[in-house]
Amino acid sequence: MATKQNFPTVDQSHRKAYGPISVPERLLLGPGPSNAHPGVLDALACPPIGHLDPFYVELMGEVQELLRYAWQTNNRLTLPMSGTGSAAMEATIANSVEPGETVLVAIKGYFGHRLADMAGRYQANVQTIEKAWGEAFSLGELEAGLREYRPSILAMVHAETSTGVCQPMDGIGELCEKYNCLLLLDTVTSLGGVPLYLDSWKVDLAYSCSQKGLSCPPGLGPFTMSPRAESKLLKRSSKVPNWYLDVSLLNKYWGSDRVYHHTAPVNMNFGIREALRLLSEEGLENAWNRHRSNAEKLWKGLEQQGLDMHVSEELRLPTLTTVRIPEGVNGKAFALHLLNNHGIEVGGGLGSLAGKVWRIGLMGYNSTPENVDKVLNIFESELPRFRENDACAA
Ligand SMILES: *Cc1c(COP(=O)(O)O)cnc(C)c1O
Repeated sequence: MATKQNFPTVDQSHRKAYGPISVPERLLLGPGPSNAHPGVLDALACPPIGHLDPFYVELMGEVQELLRYAWQTNNRLTLPMSGTGSAAMEATIANSVEPGETVLVAIKGYFGHRLADMAGRYQANVQTIEKAWGEAFSLGELEAGLREYRPSILAMVHAETSTGVCQPMDGIGELCEKYNCLLLLDTVTSLGGVPLYLDSWKVDLAYSCSQKGLSCPPGLGPFTMSPRAESKLLKRSSKVPNWYLDVSLLNKYWGSDRVYHHTAPVNMNFGIREALRLLSEEGLENAWNRHRSNAEKLWKGLEQQGLDMHVSEELRLPTLTTVRIPEGVNGKAFALHLLNNHGIEVGGGLGSLAGKVWRIGLMGYNSTPENVDKVLNIFESELPRFRENDACAA
């Protein structure tokens, strides 16, 4: 017989009365998330269905097929991890690294350091080569690293969101083949916005996110693995040391067996399915060209206002531009002003670029000439006041 339990009610009389949620309107032109496409928001609002429902199972296949298209790969093992880009990043490491193996991380910004940190947590022998924030690696520099460290994996970032640099990929896959190592590539800020040819580039492991070039809210981390990486996974001497991200388990759900692993965030998958469908409807090359031409318009306009881009033009990333904060301007105060008074989000610098650059993102749905004009107009009208204020204060 249950005894009546007499717990006192927790006193929450100090708690404010909450109204229903109301989110301010923002134009997200920072390093991510970017604004979601309205069609994607509609898809997210569909009622959830079971994650083993035949309709849902079919949708999973569509998401995989569309992801392969977006990445230009035929990799069988291509699926969205339930988690953000960092979860997919960790999945590439967790599934490919065995304790004691050498992982060479080519670091040229913040996210390269994150890769090195993760590889260390999976007990890799982590070696690094580094470039200044704003530069990319040459083939010679990468080959010197491969020759010296003989890693089983070379890990690097394609689109370094912290610096605005796009790593040229020509010849890197061939180098990895020559030195018999897998190529692991972060494509978080390139997928959907910058040319990506995973198979031609001989990339073995790659990951991305839903909230940057794909115009979907954050929550999913696309992941892909080549047959070469798959056979390494099959030959592992120890279990993947992360249950949630173990692709051999996940593949039993995403593959043909449909064995329960975890409850898929079905609505997020509705959303990414629509985001990827919109990308394929536009066409990859059209999307890449759109990002390129809008970025060029932004660069030209800002330069006409006397501002300097941090990265040399041939390495500049169309999805994320780093603009040097002019001498005497409080960059943080300016960004806060844009957010609070104009609803426009622009990012600040990370790591060694903190306080030195603004980061302006033109990703996915947000990469439009109208948004570029908005940024240029607001910089033209508002920035002079911040120059003057600081001059007066000095
Ligand atoms: C945003 C980003 C990540 C991390 O993705 P989250 O979705 O924030 O977890 C990883 N790498 C790069 C290059 C990024 O820009």
